[in-house]
Amino acid sequence: MKLLGAMILAFSLVGSAYTQTPQTGAAADAGGGQASSQSIKIMRSGSQPSRQGPAENFSGKVRVDPLFEANAPGRARSSLVTFDPGARTAWHTHPLGQALIVTAGVGRVQRWGDPVEEIRKGDVVWIPAGQKHWHGAATNSSMSHIAIVEALDGKSVEWMEKVSDSQYTAAVRAQSSTTNTSTQPRPSQRAIGDFAPKLAELTDNVLYADVWERPELSKRDRSLVTVAALIALNRPDQLRSHLTRARDNGVTQEELIETITHLAFYSGWPNAVTAVGVAKEVFEKK
Ligand code: MN
Repeated sequence: MKLLGAMILAFSLVGSAYTQTPQTGAAADAGGGQASSQSIKIMRSGSQPSRQGPAENFSGKVRVDPLFEANAPGRARSSLVTFDPGARTAWHTHPLGQALIVTAGVGRVQRWGDPVEEIRKGDVVWIPAGQKHWHGAATNSSMSHIAIVEALDGKSVEWMEKVSDSQYTAAVRAQSSTTNTSTQPRPSQRAIGDFAPKLAELTDNVLYADVWERPELSKRDRSLVTVAALIALNRPDQLRSHLTRARDNGVTQEELIETITHLAFYSGWPNAVTAVGVAKEVFEKK
């Protein structure tokens, strides 16, 4: 019972990865005695209250759900942070670095002096120790990430100034994980560059480099409306590449199949059946 009491005390002191809290792990250790007497702890879903990200350290609406505090001798602590569209942290550093695991949506991260990077569900981000940075949602999409930090001398974060609107809306660098960067010709150059160079140039420089990059719609939303239009127009050739692009932009296979099913009622049965055939081909190839 003493151990249980100490654990309850330890977890009632739970802050988050963003606050400076005393060594709660040490408190648990004091009551627990030898390591052999420590049992597995299960923090039941819903048992740790959420709180708002404080206005001095965040812009916009941010919810912080504590996951776990440091348990001595371990030093890692973690929280789940959910940013509304447009919301973000202030500039800050972590003395021992930070891991971010994006669990939902589309977001942004930037190290001071580097371009803004887009991050999306499934991405894992490592922030090196002492690097000034911020993270948050995209302008038109919410974003949730699990944040894991270790404290140095009881401190896991050093807060700085807010991220201004102009810093936040600066151009987002295209995802570097995709390989078609400057060294490789764009798909349109390969497909039509020799035969219709002006059309290839318009496709690359106006459609993809400009319109698709505009922050007023997320890439995911642009993919969804594009796929919907191509299904409705019965354009299987263009749909093929846009289904792949849509998946790269965070639309799931299930969502794309649901889109086709939905559109059967708005664009006609034959169009949906054609689209399903193309989708099957694309998804089975992976
Ligand atoms: Mn951080």
